[in-house]
Amino acid sequence: MSQERNNREISSALRAHFGRAPRVFIRTFGCQQNVSDSERMLGLLEGLDCEACCEAEGADIIIFNTCAVREHAEDRVFGNIGRLKALKSERPELLLCVGGCMVQQEHIAKKLLESYPYVDIVFNTNELGRLPSLLAERLEKNTPLDAHGCCDWSMREGLKPRREGGFRAFVPIMYGCDNFCSYCVVPLVRGRERSRNSEHIIAEFKAALGEGYRDIMLLGQNVNSYGKGLDEDINFAGLLRKLASLEGDFTLRFMTSHPKDATRELFEVMGAFPKIAPHIHLPVQSGSDRILRLMNRRYSSEGYLRLTEEARALVPGITFSSDIIVGFPGETREDFDATLRLIREVRFASLFTFIYSKREGTPAAKMPDDTAHKTKARRLAEILDIQEEIAAERENALVGSVQRALVVERLGEVLYEGRLWDNNSIALEGSGAVGEFAQAEILSRTKKRLFGRIV
Ligand code: SAH
Ligand code: SF4
Repeated sequence: MSQERNNREISSALRAHFGRAPRVFIRTFGCQQNVSDSERMLGLLEGLDCEACCEAEGADIIIFNTCAVREHAEDRVFGNIGRLKALKSERPELLLCVGGCMVQQEHIAKKLLESYPYVDIVFNTNELGRLPSLLAERLEKNTPLDAHGCCDWSMREGLKPRREGGFRAFVPIMYGCDNFCSYCVVPLVRGRERSRNSEHIIAEFKAALGEGYRDIMLLGQNVNSYGKGLDEDINFAGLLRKLASLEGDFTLRFMTSHPKDATRELFEVMGAFPKIAPHIHLPVQSGSDRILRLMNRRYSSEGYLRLTEEARALVPGITFSSDIIVGFPGETREDFDATLRLIREVRFASLFTFIYSKREGTPAAKMPDDTAHKTKARRLAEILDIQEEIAAERENALVGSVQRALVVERLGEVLYEGRLWDNNSIALEGSGAVGEFAQAEILSRTKKRLFGRIV
C-alpha cells in the first residue's frame, strides 16, 4: 500500500516536472539479460504512468542500460552518451540515467560522474526496483546521483516486465556468476550467483504464455548451476521438467550453459520433453587445453567433445551453438589450430566469435599478450569462413525436409520471417500467422539464408 502511494507521489512529481506524462527511452546494449532488465525497467516506469518512446529525441527520461563485456561495447556507450550533451543543454529538465554492467566498474562510474556532469543518475541495475525512488530523489536534490555501488538483490523480485512485443519472451532464472573465467568481467559487475525461486519463475513463465509468447528463453550466466543456495531442493533439470510440463504449445530454450556443469540428467530431460528445443548454446571459447586452463574454464577439449557426444546420444537431432574467443593472451597458431579442429569436429549450427578484449580487474588482463591485432583479426576471419562452410553444408542438407518453424514477423504480403528449432532464421512464403507455429518445407539456401514455404 505504501509502495503504491509512493508510486503515485513519484508519478505526480515526474508529471509536474515535465508538464506531461513522461516519455521514456531505454537504449539497451549487450546481452539478453540486459534486454530482460530493460523490460523490467519499462514495466516499472509504465507503472508510474510513463510512456515508452522509441528515440532519445522527444524523450523526457533517457536510460542507457550498458554492457561491459568487451571494450568496444563500452566505447559505443560513451560515444552515445557524448551525443546526448546537446540534447541535455537544449532541454535541461530531461533526466539522463546510466545503469548496467559498465557502471559497476569503479573507474567507469568515476569517469561518468566526473567527465559527464550532465548525466543525472548512475545506478546499479541489479537493484532495478529502486529506479522510481532514484528518479524522485534526483528531482528533489537537483544534483547528479551516484547509486552504482549498492546492491540489494531483493529489489529485483515482483517486477512485471513490459515486453516489447518481439516474438520471444526472456525469463531470468538466476543472476550473477561465480565462475570467474579469467577474461571475464561479468562476475565482477554482476556479483555472486543467485537463483530465483522456482515459483516466481513458473509464475512469470505462465504469464508470458498468457501474453501469447510461444518461444520462451530462460536466462542465466550458467543455467546449469540453477538451484544452488535455494531453500527448495531443485536443480536445472528439475526446473526444466516443471516448465516443460506446463500446458500449451510452446518452445522452451535456455542460455547459457557452462560445459563444466552440463549433466546427463539435463540431456535426458531435453530428450524426454518435445517442448524443449533440441538445441544447446554451449560456449567452448577455445579448443586448446592450454588456453582453456588459462581461461579457468575447468574442462578440456576432450571433455567438451565427450559432452557433445553424450548429448547427441540422449537428445535426438540436437544441434549446438557456441562462443569462441580468438586471440586470448598467448594464443599461438597451434592453440588456434586446435580450436579450428574442434569447430570442424562438432559442426556447430552457429558460432558467436569475439576477439579477446582486455578487461580491467580480470586475471587475464595481467597475462602477456603479444599477438598482433591484425593476426587476431585474420584468425577470426578464418573461423568465420570455416563456419560458413559448415553452416552451408548443414543447411543445404535440410533442403527438401519439413520442419516446425515459429512465424515471427511479416516481411511482405506473402513473406514471413520464421525461426527454426535451432534459432536459425528462415524466410517463409505462404500464408502464416505471426506468433504461431507452422510446418515449413525447406526449399533452398541462398545468400547464407534458408528459404521455405509454409505447408
Ligand atoms: N556466461 C556465459 C557468457 C557470458 S559473456 C558463458 O560462460 O558462456 C558472452 C560471451 O562473451 C562469452 O561466452 C565469451 O565468448 C565472450 N567474452 C566474455 N568476456 C570476453 C572478453 N574479455 N573478450 C572477448 N570476449 C569475451
Ligand atoms: Fe563470464 Fe565465465 Fe561467468 Fe560466463 S561463466 S559470465 S564467461 S565468468
